[in-house]
Amino acid sequence: MKRILKYILTVAAIIAVLSSCGGNSKETPDVKVTLSATPTTVTFAPKANGTKVIAVSTTGDWTATPSATWFHLDKTSGKGKGSISVTADENAGSDERTGSIRISVSGAPDVTVSVSQLADNMVALSASPAQFDGNKRASTTYQLLVYSFADSDGDGIGDFNGIASKLDYLSDVMGATALWLSPVHPAMSYHGYDVLDYFSLNPEYGTEADFRNLLAAAKAKGIDIYLDYVLNHSGSKHPWFLEAAADETSPYRDYYIFSENPSGDIKAGLFAMFPKTGYDAGQWFPLGDADLGAKGRFRFDLDWKSDSAPVVTVTETDAAVEMGSSEKYIYYGNDDKCRAFVDDGDGKYHIVVDFNSDWGFLIRTSSETWDNGTKYGGKAGSIITFGEPYVLNNTEAADIVFKAATYYHSHFWTDWFADFNYGAADEADKSKAFIDLASSADKWINMGVAGLRLDAVKHIYWSETSSENPTFLDKWYDHCNATYKAAGNSGDIFMVGEVFSDAPATYSYYDGLPSVFEFSFWWKLKNVLNNRSAGTFVSDIIGYHNSYKARRSDAVPGIKLSNHDEDRAASDLGKSLPKEKQAAAFLLTAGGRPFIYQGEELGYWGTKASGDEYVRTPMMWNKNSSSLASKRLGSKIDKSMLTASISVETQLADEASLLNVYKTFSTLRNTYPALAEGEMSATSIRDPAIASWYMISGNSKLLVIHNVANSDKTIEVDDSMAHCVALLGTAYVDGTSLKLGANSSVVFEL
Ligand code: MG
Repeated sequence: MKRILKYILTVAAIIAVLSSCGGNSKETPDVKVTLSATPTTVTFAPKANGTKVIAVSTTGDWTATPSATWFHLDKTSGKGKGSISVTADENAGSDERTGSIRISVSGAPDVTVSVSQLADNMVALSASPAQFDGNKRASTTYQLLVYSFADSDGDGIGDFNGIASKLDYLSDVMGATALWLSPVHPAMSYHGYDVLDYFSLNPEYGTEADFRNLLAAAKAKGIDIYLDYVLNHSGSKHPWFLEAAADETSPYRDYYIFSENPSGDIKAGLFAMFPKTGYDAGQWFPLGDADLGAKGRFRFDLDWKSDSAPVVTVTETDAAVEMGSSEKYIYYGNDDKCRAFVDDGDGKYHIVVDFNSDWGFLIRTSSETWDNGTKYGGKAGSIITFGEPYVLNNTEAADIVFKAATYYHSHFWTDWFADFNYGAADEADKSKAFIDLASSADKWINMGVAGLRLDAVKHIYWSETSSENPTFLDKWYDHCNATYKAAGNSGDIFMVGEVFSDAPATYSYYDGLPSVFEFSFWWKLKNVLNNRSAGTFVSDIIGYHNSYKARRSDAVPGIKLSNHDEDRAASDLGKSLPKEKQAAAFLLTAGGRPFIYQGEELGYWGTKASGDEYVRTPMMWNKNSSSLASKRLGSKIDKSMLTASISVETQLADEASLLNVYKTFSTLRNTYPALAEGEMSATSIRDPAIASWYMISGNSKLLVIHNVANSDKTIEVDDSMAHCVALLGTAYVDGTSLKLGANSSVVFEL
């Protein structure tokens, strides 16, 4: 039986080979010759101990030609894939030796491998930092998203107990002295920035007892808890807002801004939060599901002599319904009808329709697109009257309505948010909304919360650059700080504001707060790393920091890479691991208060293009991804990213991982006072690819040097390089010369 089976398999194999050969016999395959070599840079120590191996990958016959005689190849030709061993003699001289190997194959471009050998007196640097004494000196804050950080109870939603279970990681690996939690209050959306109750906690995250446990456990690890506070607006389903909207006599009516005629009321100066002029009345939303439209057979007449101010007149009629074919359209109805007008010539158009629309109507000059000002409407708060001409505009282009509505104000072009009314900035602390919100903050501060991150502070008052927001924030800070001190805390409460702008636009905010995020730090740093040019990065940052200090002596900017509202750092850096590592080294050696955003330390990538969720991916703690806190992000997770290799478990075990760069530099920052609380100042090193600065605090002084080039850089250094305390990549010293490898960073203690 076995013999028969063997016979059958043999015949089948022969047939398979024949058919395969037959199928290809009439064609000459068009094989493109390829050639690559790895690595393309080889550096020998002066004593040249060891052999360097270059892997050659090609489909052809290759030759290798050395350009110098001080190194030797074990072979100079080969067929297909292979390797070349390179050995060098001892370099007894005081000059570095360089050379190259040209690898050639017919039909593909040559590949050149650079070979160099350090001078006899060049010393490879290694880092020998002082032993960390466990006293965390730096104020390194870890930004985490409660819903996607760590889930303790298996419901797929991150929670307080989950955070508490990761405090060792946050303290020992990340070196964190504070955590900024995403909004913890009940809210309308998963992200929490539309709060429903400032006095309670989202039950999905745990109980108040769980939260108190987290506060206590974190404190025992030397970690403060900061809450994300949303002062610009509440969710539009907040009970305060629902009551205020339903009843003009509600005690909450003053918490928000309502108007039947926003444009007119602003001009009349009825709202202390808006100036009478210079602010358009946009970003108002009609309350509830009120019927603002009309129903009946109507004739619409358009007088379109000019695109800037066409006029529409509506009349009731018994005439027959019409169909037009012009480029002017009426858009209306609860089922979104779009009908062309009849062109009467000379800029006149008309149409008769059976009209039924709760929201009113708009005029359009395209049936396909809303772009480029093709939508014409009216001014929010104005109503159209039968038989009376109504002037259209395509800038505000609010719905044209038949009845008066009551509108409420929301800055963010979304009816999910309702902006708070704090009245005049210099009296803001007397407003009911301020008093209630401050009372809610008191509750959490008295419970042990040590700081707040304030959302969208440049939008609270109408102008980003007026003094109103800083004035308001100063009152808020003073209130919270008084509560903090009365609770028995030493020092001041920490508070950082989000002003999503370039650094100079944030200067005035230091009049109100001790800290403001420095978005410019990352926006400039990613250009430095991607362009491989330090440019004016260092002088710009030092200039910003001096400007903050001039404004406020205790100013400390919140420096960061990306956050939950931006594309991930790794995406911005083209997923280049050397650049990601160096970005971490920049962040943790610069002045200010570093914020590390959940997942940055693992090299998470993601952009906002398909949804913000893609930059808010759950932490992958273990190689096995089964326990991800992913439920609140739905399907908007890049599963191709969440492989075992990116997990905390894998990266902790890999000394060369990005996570270990964060760990090394966070520990360094906690070890040296000059890094922890020092100020940056300029050095005399001048090289387009080198960013360097001193960090100085009292008698403690460090020299920080980053090479952002894609190749070695040799520079002269005036300061002592005797004590290297941190090294990313490679560095060699020869007297006053420092040779830094590509994307390498070094820190010297002076
Ligand atoms: Mg949970």
